[in-house]
Formats: sequence, C-alpha cells, structure tokens
Amino acid sequence: MDVDDIPIMVVDDSKSIRLVMKKILNRLNMEDITFCEDGAKALTIIKQDPEHYHLIFIDLNMPEMDGMALIRQLGSARFNGAVVIASQMEHRVINLASDIAKKNHIHLIGNLKKPFDISQMECILEKYRAFRQRSTPTMNVLSVDEIRQAINQGRLMPYYQPKVDINTNQIHSLEVLARIDSPGDGGAITPVNFISIAENHNLINLITFHLLKTALFEYAELESEIGDFFTLSINISALQLEDLNMPDKFDAIVLDGGLTAKKITIEVTEEHALKTDKQLETLNRFRIKGYGIALDDFGTGFTNISQLLSLPFTEVKIDRSLIAGINDDQFSQVIVNSLIDLTSKMEIELVAEGIETIEELEYFVKFKALILLQGYLFTKPKPKDELIHWYHSWKKTILKNV
Ligand code: C2E
Ligand code: CA
Ligand code: CA
Repeated sequence: MDVDDIPIMVVDDSKSIRLVMKKILNRLNMEDITFCEDGAKALTIIKQDPEHYHLIFIDLNMPEMDGMALIRQLGSARFNGAVVIASQMEHRVINLASDIAKKNHIHLIGNLKKPFDISQMECILEKYRAFRQRSTPTMNVLSVDEIRQAINQGRLMPYYQPKVDINTNQIHSLEVLARIDSPGDGGAITPVNFISIAENHNLINLITFHLLKTALFEYAELESEIGDFFTLSINISALQLEDLNMPDKFDAIVLDGGLTAKKITIEVTEEHALKTDKQLETLNRFRIKGYGIALDDFGTGFTNISQLLSLPFTEVKIDRSLIAGINDDQFSQVIVNSLIDLTSKMEIELVAEGIETIEELEYFVKFKALILLQGYLFTKPKPKDELIHWYHSWKKTILKNV
C-alpha cells in the first residue's frame, strides 16, 4: 500500500475510539491526523481551509451535532475531500446516507465497522487512493506545444482495454484510451498528463477525432482477429458536450470510417457531465443517432441512483473506488447491489471498472444479471498488436470451452 501521508481528521466523541483510530492510522504511516470530539469543532476547523483535509472519519452517533448533520454542513462548507462513516450501518442507513451525501455534494466513500482493524483501514485507504488517482498527474505533465507536436508526429495513439462479459468471457467492447508514445522514456504517457491541458487549450476535439479515426482504421484488423461482435467505447469530455453539433461532427467521421453508430458507445464521466442543459441535449442527440451512452466513474459524482431513470444512459460504469475490496466491504456492496438491481430492470448495461483481484471478480459472479468487467486482472490497456496477442492467449486459456 502506498498512500502518502495525507491530512486526516477523525471526529468521534469517544476518547477510546479516537485512541484506537490513532493507533491504526499510525501503523499505516498516517501521522498527520487532527482529532475532534464534536461536529461543531470539526466544522469550524474545516471552514478555515476546506481544501486542507483529504479524508474525514465521522462517527454517526454524537451528542450535539450527529454525523449526518455534520455531512450536510460539510456540503455547505464546500469540503471537497472524502468522507468515511466510522460506525456500524444497516443497509437502509447506507443508502440513505449515500443519498444525503450526494445531495450535499459530499464524496462518501465507505464505512468502518467496529471493532476497527488494520485490514478494514487498508481497504478504506485503497478506496481513497482509487478516488484520488483520477485527478493526480505524475511527473510528466505536457505543455501545449508538446501535445501539438505529439499529435503532428503521429505519437498520439489509441490503447484498448476490453470489457469482458461475465457470463461468456467474450469481449463485449473495447474502450479506447488515449496515450502519447514517448520513445525511450519508459512507456506511453497517460491521459492525466495531457487531457485537461488539451481541454483548456482547445485541442480536445483534435485528440478525440484523431483517436476515433485511428480506432476506426484499426477496427478492421481487430475485427478479423476477434470477431465482429464487439463495440468500441470512446471517452469524451464534458466540455465537448457543450457543442450541440458534436454528434454531427462525430457521426461524419464514423460513417467515413465505415462503422455505424450502434457499434460505438460514448463515455462521459459522472463528475463533470450533466451540469448544463446543453450537455444533456448533446447526449440526447448522440442517443437519437443510435450511439450508446455510458455514465463513467459512477460513484465519484453526485448522480442519485434513481436519477438514472430520467437520463439517456445505456450503460453505467461503476468506479474503482466502489470496486476496490468490495468482497469485504459492506458499504460498496449495498450501493453496488442497488445499482445491479436497478440497471438489470431497466436493461442498462453495467460495467465494474478496475477489477484487480480474483476476490473482486468473484463478488460479481454470483449475480444473474449481465455484468461487464474491466480491469488489470484481465489486462491493462494495450496498443492494437499487443491487444490482439493478448486476445489469442485469452482465447486459448479461458475461451477454449466456449
Ligand atoms: P476512465 O475512462 O475511467 O478509464 C479507466 C482508467 O482506469 C484508465 O486510465 C485505465 O487504464 C485505468 N484502469 C483500468 N483498469 C484498471 C485497474 O484494474 N486498476 C486501476 N487502478 N486502474 C485501471 P487511463 O488510461 O490513465 O485514463 C484515465 C482517464 O483519462 C480515463 O478514465 C478517461 O476519463 C480519460 N481519458 C482517456 N482517454 C481519453 C480521451 O480520449 N478523451 C478524453 N476526454 N478523456 C480520456
Ligand atoms: Ca471511460
Ligand atoms: Ca471510469
């Protein structure tokens, strides 16, 4: 486990619990911890600098201000880190707490049940890491000129990661993930180092359209190796949904590349999309043309499970922060089970993202619903040739009896 020491707050009225929490967190090399015995004090400290604390553990049962009230108030204080409830919670309470947190724009990522122990805490820190990872660049952030140059030199390329059908083990879809090849620099540069810069400097359409064209071009070879049943999934930024003509521009490229809309799913992240009427209208236009629409990173934003009913999604992707350690984590189980229930009734495809362990995989096997799985356990994203190579050995070992 390599979570750096992060500023943590523990809010609990019991002194002995605060001591236990200190001991466990210290054992995991967490030293920067502030302890509060009541919600009011916690709130005063957080309001002084809402960005400071990354993770807050909150007891539900406290005199004066209880845990749920504190979560509501954290919303108005614009607290932007992650919250963990450090109390036993029943199923109904978990769903309710999750709804209240979403309404108040608070990222509730889990709960700890008593007696607290190291392995539960490790699981929470892994969920926290998955929650943070999406927005933390590594050392290689590119400049605008470097991005332009990479595109001009043909170094921007699609990597592919499969979504595997849990029942048949077949490849249901390939997600296209942007990479910039960086020869001699130890591998490809990942999107966190260039997508948001590209968004801010009007380069994002160039990136999307270049990747789309390349993927359409490579589709023929992928199809001849894998079969013609899989679809392509393309990520687009919320910003691109502000352009009502995006579906027309996109569609022209798809037709030119010889594919049809029903073979392609557009992925938009929950955290940033659906803020404006225009975004929703653009999504509807994509849908009307026949594209699949996936709500990506579900669990990181504030869409209520019931709100899904009124939105045009054909697929929901559960973020890794809900998947990590799910086999051993009641909080994630309750949220994910409700989601499986709802999406299977509505015939929305469900993808569990970021499957890394056999235990996480096995959690999903018991459900009858169609669930798609994606993650390093199957394969990391790969360029076309390597993906084909992976598929052949997958076929030999896993699909041999199908
Ligand atoms: P995403 O769409 O949620 O893609 C999944 C990310 O999780 C990918 O990171 C993938 O490599 C990673 N991943 C897959 N399986 C596992 C696993 O088992 N464990 C862990 N820890 N991670 C796993 P990647 O490729 O670095 O992409 C990061 C994000 O960048 C994507 O998140 C997506 O939001 C964005 N992105 C990628 N390509 C594009 C693009 O062409 N356009 C736009 N606008 N955004 C893109
Ligand atoms: Ca995606
Ligand atoms: Ca995702």
